[in-house]
Amino acid sequence: MTPPVVLTIAGSDSGGGAGIQADLKTFAALGAFGTSVITAITAQNTLGVTAIHPVPVDVVAAQLDAVLSDLPVAAVKVGMISDPAVAELIASRVDDLPNLVVDPVLVATAGSRLGEAAVVGVLTAYPCVLTPNRHEAGALLGRRVESVEEMVSAAAELAALGPRAVVVTGSELALDVLHFDGAATLLRGEPVMTENNHGSGCTFSSAIAVRLAAGDPVPDAVAAAKAYVNRGLRGGSSWRLGAGPGPLDH
Ligand code: PLP
Repeated sequence: MTPPVVLTIAGSDSGGGAGIQADLKTFAALGAFGTSVITAITAQNTLGVTAIHPVPVDVVAAQLDAVLSDLPVAAVKVGMISDPAVAELIASRVDDLPNLVVDPVLVATAGSRLGEAAVVGVLTAYPCVLTPNRHEAGALLGRRVESVEEMVSAAAELAALGPRAVVVTGSELALDVLHFDGAATLLRGEPVMTENNHGSGCTFSSAIAVRLAAGDPVPDAVAAAKAYVNRGLRGGSSWRLGAGPGPLDH
């Protein structure tokens, strides 16, 4: 049977752990056919980011046109966007982007800045599934989001801007907050003790997109994605790929 087509609009990670590379691995592992629009090329490995080259907006638009004009895209995940013109491009094409999941990528695992809240924040006005971690939620709202109570109120405030659902992830807390249909749900998981979590945010949002493409309701898609990330973290927990924190397994 022909697999569902899922699109990632995101940055490339030469180290293979996050960004486009994590997204395509997730799509393949979960049975979708992955397509990609690359917004930036990053030079990085497990130790950090050494260069960022944004792809010009006309080339981003050409990739998007090439994919959308031919392939029946059933869900779209947006990751790293560093250029306001690319955020505007995505906003202008939002009606052509079904089952949109937006991961507001701001800082690389190793600390380098990959995006600005003011740029990716444009997309919070649209009916997407928004998946910030609590630091990204805080940056989008202009305040600190640390405790579970703050995660719950941040999710509600972000949902009021336009998304159809918001998941504020707690990373090392293994506790996420889903705001959907006017109500907050706490999603608990088993914490995995590992430094190898590079790409877990990318993997989470990509897995949600695959499950939405398959027809899951939002809460089921989020629960399945959380279980997939947890499995990946456990699978890669003892890997030694480079000298720094590595990625999760797919
Ligand atoms: N996108 C790119 C290109 C990245 O390099 C990174 C992190 O380094 C991310 C996204 C976000 O990664 P994570 O899933 O670890 O939050």
